[in-house]
Amino acid sequence: MDELSWQEVVAAISQASTLAELKDWRTRWVGKHGRITELMKGLSDLPPEERRRRGQELNQAREAILAALTQREQVLTDRAEERALEAERWDLTLPGREPDTGMLHPLTRVRRRIEDVLLRLGFSLAYGPQVESEWYNFEALNIPPNHPAREMQDSFFVDIPGLVLRTHTSPVQIRAMEQHQGRLPVKIIAPGLTYRRDDDATHVPMFQQVEGLVVDHGISVADLMGTLTVMVQELLGGSVRTRFRSSYFPFTEPSLEMDVTCAVCQGQGCRVCKETGWVEILGSGLVHPTVLRNGGYDPDQVSGFAFGMGIERIAMRLYGLDDLRLLYQNDLRFLRGFRHQGGLR
Ligand SMILES: [Zn+2]
Repeated sequence: MDELSWQEVVAAISQASTLAELKDWRTRWVGKHGRITELMKGLSDLPPEERRRRGQELNQAREAILAALTQREQVLTDRAEERALEAERWDLTLPGREPDTGMLHPLTRVRRRIEDVLLRLGFSLAYGPQVESEWYNFEALNIPPNHPAREMQDSFFVDIPGLVLRTHTSPVQIRAMEQHQGRLPVKIIAPGLTYRRDDDATHVPMFQQVEGLVVDHGISVADLMGTLTVMVQELLGGSVRTRFRSSYFPFTEPSLEMDVTCAVCQGQGCRVCKETGWVEILGSGLVHPTVLRNGGYDPDQVSGFAFGMGIERIAMRLYGLDDLRLLYQNDLRFLRGFRHQGGLR
């Protein structure tokens, strides 16, 4: 063999660094027109003695080269696989990427939390229409025609005469009493959307209320105060202090507003609570005899209490917000901040 001995070829093959190099060696030496193949073709021209010796020599060279090629191919293939595996290896120490899942709106979570507390206190859920008749929204609740709530500036009236977007969830009081048909007790909460023509940092034209109504024999102001105090402490934490102030609502008599200690100053007095240490949380009172009568109950036989509160106001308190319009702007950067709020589902 001319330029290279077969031992040199085998040595070169065992050092080859690519499969392409191996292919080249194979073609040049043991391929169809390779050097050894050509030499074997020339054996028949040699005398018999010479032919056998030379034939054995060429066979040995061919076998050695083929074996070297196979071995090196295996090595290079294994290495390529190792590199591929290395490239694909998962780094289990990388921080995970949280999938972009949705979540309940903070107001929905607060509404459900309020519902949870009241359902545990024995209330059941009741609902009414958002487009309400003036009878259910005003008259039945003892709201006289000259009441400010009935003026165009405060309410959204519908083109159909006699209909209004309900200005509070209180009409459900009348509807619930009608549905009970005189049965006792009536003990319902009515969460839902309400509408008024207000728009500032603490008012939006569409907002959410939770109404509560209890009617039974011998219901007193003590029942009202006890129930609402437990509810507020469950909602805002046992350390919150409460107080009741007398107030006026057309559908309750007496009427009471409930205050809780200011979350900002813990009752010390600050700008938020106008230095009083208290902020109003809800309105309530004993159901007015006219309202009981309009619901089909005899005020000489039964009594009741009712309360209503804004879900937004509770949310602002729970989340420490000073502008409730943030809750309605659908800004995902703002809403995502509530994703991991503990305790609120
Ligand atoms: Zn304060």
